[in-house]
Amino acid sequence: MTDRPMSREDAIPYMAQIVAAQLGSTPTSADALPALIRSVHDAILELAKEPPLAFVHPAADPAMPPAERVELTVHHEHLDCLECGRPIKLLKSHLRDTHDLELDEYLARWRLPHDYPTTPEAYVEKRRAVANRIGLGRHGGTRSVAKPAEPKPEQPKRPRGRPRKHPLPVTTNS
Ligand SMILES: [Zn+2]
Repeated sequence: MTDRPMSREDAIPYMAQIVAAQLGSTPTSADALPALIRSVHDAILELAKEPPLAFVHPAADPAMPPAERVELTVHHEHLDCLECGRPIKLLKSHLRDTHDLELDEYLARWRLPHDYPTTPEAYVEKRRAVANRIGLGRHGGTRSVAKPAEPKPEQPKRPRGRPRKHPLPVTTNS
């Protein structure tokens, strides 16, 4: 990666890949090709011009009291990420995947309380509705609390690549 802006030539390999993929999946007439090529090419250049994802959220102001920061970032339908300003649904995985941050680090960094939600209320409600529909929490008493999904047992790893150097001895009982 370099910091210089993408040139028209730089965009060509990307354009070629996209156009090839498009032609592979959709029959396109030769007449339509130049326009397709041009529009993909322009779109790539346009994207390359955009500043990196980062806009400063109003609540990223360090002088803001934490309670106010919570109020500004927790919405019914989404949470606002203070790192990039984007609306998100799953805070933990967003932090990990996009910012390489653990939740604790994020909370400490932005002085957020430990009970800060990691999913918006709408998401929690939806999950609850689904759980009810499939019968969890219906059969009085014993199953009223939905158990968190248990992690899948790890698949035994299949040996990859070269076969064993020393194959198991074959017993010959003749
Ligand atoms: Zn973010």
